[in-house]
Amino acid sequence: MSKKPNELTIIEAARALRAGELTVRALWDACVAAAEAKNPALFAYLEIFPADEAAIAEAQKRIDEEGERAPLLCGIPLAIKDNILIEGKIASAASRMLENYTATYDATVISKLKEAGALFVGRTNMDEFAMGSSTEHSAFGATKNPHDTKRVPGGSSGGSAAAVAAHLCIAALGTDTGGSIRQPAALCGLVGMKPTYGAVSRSGAIAMGSSLDQIGPLAKTAQDAQILFDAIRGKDPLDSTTIPDGLYPAHEVPKTLRIGVPRHLLGESLTAEVRAAFDTTLEKLSAAGHALLDVELPTSGHALAAYYVIMPAEVSTNLARLDGIRYGRFAEGDTLLDDYLHSRTEGFGPETRRRILLGTFVLSSGYIDAYYRKADAARGVLRDEYAKAFEKVDVIAFPTTLAPAFTFGEKSDPISMYLEDIFTVTANLTGMPALSVPMGTAARGGKELPLGIHFTAPHQAEAVLFAAARAVLPA
Ligand code: GLN
Repeated sequence: MSKKPNELTIIEAARALRAGELTVRALWDACVAAAEAKNPALFAYLEIFPADEAAIAEAQKRIDEEGERAPLLCGIPLAIKDNILIEGKIASAASRMLENYTATYDATVISKLKEAGALFVGRTNMDEFAMGSSTEHSAFGATKNPHDTKRVPGGSSGGSAAAVAAHLCIAALGTDTGGSIRQPAALCGLVGMKPTYGAVSRSGAIAMGSSLDQIGPLAKTAQDAQILFDAIRGKDPLDSTTIPDGLYPAHEVPKTLRIGVPRHLLGESLTAEVRAAFDTTLEKLSAAGHALLDVELPTSGHALAAYYVIMPAEVSTNLARLDGIRYGRFAEGDTLLDDYLHSRTEGFGPETRRRILLGTFVLSSGYIDAYYRKADAARGVLRDEYAKAFEKVDVIAFPTTLAPAFTFGEKSDPISMYLEDIFTVTANLTGMPALSVPMGTAARGGKELPLGIHFTAPHQAEAVLFAAARAVLPA
């Protein structure tokens, strides 16, 4: 084997484990050794877990006894974003508020991964409560991009993305409310996927915007992302918004795809390198027999504004439970109101406070009609426009980001940071599945920085989405 064990994909590691070329213990040790060596420089992990000897032994036993029948994820070391609960482990959402909060149960995705025999290397850094596009808003310090440590890994799942890109685990889970899986995947050179709303249970994920949030995979290949997605999806009695398995149609995947390209969205702010990489990728897809078609999505220009009304509204509601009394940090004041004030002031960072204020404002009487209800109406129009476009195309393609990874502090103005989400938020507003796949690089300061192409597919058409990803990145 020319690659080190921690550099393998899920499928390569699974094959090596079954062939007896690798043991679960050796794979675990390789990932943890890399994590311990590189984490001081990258800060991908908030915590690297001690080895779970029983789980390692059990995974090896299953592979030895069941061979090919053992789940592909058996014995595979994964990294988990710090807003997904693992029983007995801290889940802080990178916030002082939950710094010492220990999860009392497993998120449904974690139970499913445990059943499959997967192992957990650690919990990864993120923007506080998943609010951000760079992982600079973590209360515990910023994660660095493994391709250039002067630059951000993207966010909010930046720790998970950096951990996979630097081979500090084999693959990872993140959460995506407005692009937080796809955007760091693009900036770190990975495949990152946001499932259809309701495909994956949100039980045990610390809520940000409940009508937008989904848990999904960050992986080195489309095939790995699909393996993880298949392992975590499904109806869950603990999340009433999950889609019953029987209602999940087997989508036929056409041999050649009709790819819709909304050219009108690719405005001036797109950097020349991203435009060039996007055009080259489309030319290759066309040369491989896929059809490129123009599509019009006229309301897309309002998606970001709608998202930055709906999301903070839901954030302000979800974070209301963090009052110092029921969960998390408690700072005593003279009165009960003071208790709340002190606890929330000490617990929340500036970006979290900004969004709580914004959300409370757009929901307040007198403004709810002007802001929240209008944004919700725009959401309906976006859904209809995409549904109409999907009558003539299988997927819709545009770049994932406007530019490659930016430097620390470059987007200190909140609005410039929010603009990073311009291409990714629509999939969350419409609930449709979407992913980012690597599409070449851009040279900056002597480093090659990854870029991503973004595909959206109709509701529940993940199979088509993964086919598009494989068309760009074979394997
Ligand atoms: N960057 C977006 C935001 O800050 C998306 C975050 C996310 O997907 N969790 O809201």
